[in-house]
Amino acid sequence: MGGQRGTAPIDAGGHPVWAGPEALPVLAGHLTERAPSRTVVLADAHTARLCLPELHAHVPALAGAPVIEVPAGERAKAMGTCALIWRRLAELGTDRHGLLLCVGGGVVTDVGGFAAATYKRGIRCAHVPTTLMGMVDAAIGGKTAIDLHGVKNLVGLFHDPIGVYVHTPFLRTLPARERMNGAAEMLKHGLVADAAHWQAVIAAAPHDVGALAPLVPRSAAIKAALVKADPRDQGVRKLLNFGHSIGHGIEAHAWDPGQQPLLHGEAIAIGMVCEAWVAWRMDLLPRTDLDRITEAIASLFTLRPLVPMNDERIIELMGHDKKNAAGGLRFALPTAIGRARPVVPVHPDLVRAALAHARAVAVENPPITAARP
Ligand code: NAD
Repeated sequence: MGGQRGTAPIDAGGHPVWAGPEALPVLAGHLTERAPSRTVVLADAHTARLCLPELHAHVPALAGAPVIEVPAGERAKAMGTCALIWRRLAELGTDRHGLLLCVGGGVVTDVGGFAAATYKRGIRCAHVPTTLMGMVDAAIGGKTAIDLHGVKNLVGLFHDPIGVYVHTPFLRTLPARERMNGAAEMLKHGLVADAAHWQAVIAAAPHDVGALAPLVPRSAAIKAALVKADPRDQGVRKLLNFGHSIGHGIEAHAWDPGQQPLLHGEAIAIGMVCEAWVAWRMDLLPRTDLDRITEAIASLFTLRPLVPMNDERIIELMGHDKKNAAGGLRFALPTAIGRARPVVPVHPDLVRAALAHARAVAVENPPITAARP
């Protein structure tokens, strides 16, 4: 492993995660040891410019590797991008022993993982996440997907990368809004699994990514442990859905005409306020914990986009949520800061009341450090 022998990775079950200064040297070693017939780099327009020079400095062997560049942003998580990747892989003569190295945020790792899983019935991929969201969440766990017909993640499959290589210095160029996007998932990790991590993320999030970077390995480890325990998302991995049931409805509604588009983490932050209230209302969460959660999230994120939203539309859009078993809503809910239950049936009336609660918080409590574009 190129001088990195003895460095233990985080175990995500189907794949290892290296999160630290050893990550890129380990990647270099793997590329030598596994000797793919061809390594092709996938990057988006931003990561090609901002991250590939740093990657080449640490893994010089990649400097000569061909690069497939796709547009930046969620719109690239699409069939057209897959077709482009498949075509370029074929033009480059990539055979079944090739490897696609995905260098980017969740869009690049999701679409790249999907394209790798389907090209020639599946070639290997490896992920070098470059956003905070990618480092603590999207690149870990082997889920790949593209969006289709306006539905997020409509088509996808599980395809484990050979490894995830987390090099936090990539975060230096990440815009503040993207930092908070990832911080929302880190807060969630703390809330469902580790109260000390929750406190640490609250303290670090308002500062630059340099403050959050040391907390990345812990968040990655929480995600990895849940994935390892439940690779196919049938049980305990559903803890990661906290904030996402109502949050997904809010995120989807935010893209309706007349609303203010939100990043995933911004919607999830509002979702966490709502769902913590549901947990309190169902006597699962003490009032003091609800108040601490609400106050912390409202101080870091703006809840205001919820004010003009239509609750019935949010609930309708939640109906498309894969987390809902036939016949009812199922939420992951906290029982304390640092503990949660993965599957709790919830009545839609409680969702309406939770949205009213979060809207009242938004109006009464304008954010003091909300990250804005
Ligand atoms: P993203 O990939 O769109 O990246 C956000 C923006 O940051 C893009 O413009 C990108 O070009 C830019 N960027 C990336 N790295 C940068 C850097 N180091 N410096 C400057 N700019 C940089 O968004 P994301 O938040 O990383 O990922 C969101 C996607 O991840 C969504 O499609 C979501 O569905 C998916 N996701 C997947 C999983 C999973 O388990 N597979 C989990 C969570 C999210």
